[in-house]
Amino acid sequence: MIKRIRDFCRSFLLLELVHGMRVTGRHLFRRKITVQFPEEKTPLSPRFRGLHALRRYPNGEERCIGCKLCEAVCPAQAITIETEQRDDGTRRTTRYDIDLTKCIFCGFCEESCPVDSIVETAIFEYHGETRGDLHYTKEMLLAVGDRYEQSIANDRARDSAYR
Ligand code: SF4
Ligand code: SF4
Repeated sequence: MIKRIRDFCRSFLLLELVHGMRVTGRHLFRRKITVQFPEEKTPLSPRFRGLHALRRYPNGEERCIGCKLCEAVCPAQAITIETEQRDDGTRRTTRYDIDLTKCIFCGFCEESCPVDSIVETAIFEYHGETRGDLHYTKEMLLAVGDRYEQSIANDRARDSAYR
């Protein structure tokens, strides 16, 4: 009975509303912590692992030698590689696909690569509207590498300074 009277008084005096307004008022003039993405961005950890890229040497040659270590180590079996031997005796990939819908961004592929070819960049602003859009082919991965080579190289130099 006492509880019902107390609830009635609280409702009648709009105490809940006053309490809510007090909370609103308390935060009204505080520094806003909402980030207006994409105009504003939060800092990224140097350990962040984003979109994959395949890199080239400065002379334009692909770094990847088709050893398939990354394919073997990938726990999600997201990488598919096919290779062939060139006329000069070197081995290169004819197919290098990553299914980003399977990838768990563990970084094992990057760690296993002996020639620093497959890397995970700091890029996270990409999307796919169909499942197939997130199936990255060799050409797409090389295009990412070509476009962001300078920032990838800078990140690698920074990381090696910590080792
Ligand atoms: S980040 Fe991990 S899961 Fe993704 S492709 Fe590389 S090894 Fe596979
Ligand atoms: S990306 Fe690196 S680990 Fe993967 S096949 Fe090419 S050379 Fe080997």
